[in-house]
Amino acid sequence: MSFTIQNVLLATDDGYITTDVQILGDKITAIAPNLDVVGTVIDGTHKLLLPGFVNAHTHSSEMWQRGLISIFPLELWLAELYDFAPLDTEKVYLSALGTAVETLLSGGTSVVDHLVLIPGEELETIASAVRAYQEVGIRAFIAPLIQDQSLSAGLPAGESTQTHEPFFRSTAATLELVEEAVRQFHHPDAGVSILVAPTGIQLCTDALFTGCIELSDRYNLCRHSHLLETKAQEKLAQEKYGCSAVTHLQRIGYLGDRTSLAHCVWLNDTDIDILAQTQSTVVHNPLSNLRLGSGIAPILKYRQAGVNVTFGCDGASSNDSQDLLEAIKIGSILHNVTDFDYRSWISPRQAVEMASLGAAKGLNLADQLGSITVGKKADLILYDLTNLSLVPRTDPIGLLVLGRPTNVVDSAWVNGRQIIANRQVTTIDVEKLRTELFHLSEWATNRQSQTVEQFEVHYRTVMGLI
Ligand SMILES: [Zn+2]
Repeated sequence: MSFTIQNVLLATDDGYITTDVQILGDKITAIAPNLDVVGTVIDGTHKLLLPGFVNAHTHSSEMWQRGLISIFPLELWLAELYDFAPLDTEKVYLSALGTAVETLLSGGTSVVDHLVLIPGEELETIASAVRAYQEVGIRAFIAPLIQDQSLSAGLPAGESTQTHEPFFRSTAATLELVEEAVRQFHHPDAGVSILVAPTGIQLCTDALFTGCIELSDRYNLCRHSHLLETKAQEKLAQEKYGCSAVTHLQRIGYLGDRTSLAHCVWLNDTDIDILAQTQSTVVHNPLSNLRLGSGIAPILKYRQAGVNVTFGCDGASSNDSQDLLEAIKIGSILHNVTDFDYRSWISPRQAVEMASLGAAKGLNLADQLGSITVGKKADLILYDLTNLSLVPRTDPIGLLVLGRPTNVVDSAWVNGRQIIANRQVTTIDVEKLRTELFHLSEWATNRQSQTVEQFEVHYRTVMGLI
């Protein structure tokens, strides 16, 4: 597949140029005005070409509970989520399709799916998500969500003595499962990568982290986890390790330039230095942090310390959508209220770089993805600048990030393959998907979660709410 985009607007350091971009196979091969036409001609007139963004942290199957879960902090929200989570692999497939489509239509060409596994059907769950992502054609980084402690272990004990049911699957069996997933599904050249993804310090033993480090080193896999999303997790880390979670993860060797960490709300200055030294990546999920009352991550401090930061939507039941442009907007301007020095605020152009190159760095692919550069992969999004939400003509990137862009993605390519044309996904039948998502669900309002009932008194006590 080869094509030439003509007369398209590209961002330069301080402005824009109108130029041509040539793609041969999966790579960008030339950028200059009036190039010889190679392959298909794409008219880029009045359109802006940007590198595809990455939805760098989500949980696709949460789509089935979006807009539904009670207004709770993470620990209680999670209890309700899991009480109603039992899914089948067909639903996993459909919600992965939905996540891919919404990501693409809001500027993303890659998704990092911290995939919740159906107990007893773990590999089938992964296979279903892989099938969905390959059918759509989005670049997929599947991070099978693993833990080896039961949900109640994720709450700090406080003054109480707590005992927890053992997790239903052993640490060794969990690691074997991840290794089998790598053998079956890790095909980066085909657009599907597997990551090791212990959910976080709150539900994982050191044995699980260490096993993941070993797999990551052996198979050259990236690492992905939640980190200090809530105040409760900060307390838990002190109880569990007697030091901060970040210090502990550094000691056991989990951090590094292939490690991306979702949320990072409750870090102290020493923790931030450690993330910078280890070249770890922070995935900023501003909408779920607001929805769950987790807090405002100190993103400007990260940037000042030289920590790489990118954006994620997080799962659709703590957001409750998969609109990447919305996450980028809120994730940028939210911090204007945390720091009076406006010189450190995030500009629209910086936000675009964080969402593209920042994510590529966190996935150890900065040499291949994240910018419109000759030799890099053609993961590209073409925005229609004549769209109602992007007129009148001002600064295209300024309005794309700070405005409320709606239906603005004209075309998308992943690995040089066009998967959106004329604002329509070309690879799957989105109308059929819409119908299936509708018919396999029902209106729902109040639900009684037994696990929430079990947890709530202890949660309120330990968090000082009683
Ligand atoms: Zn998450």
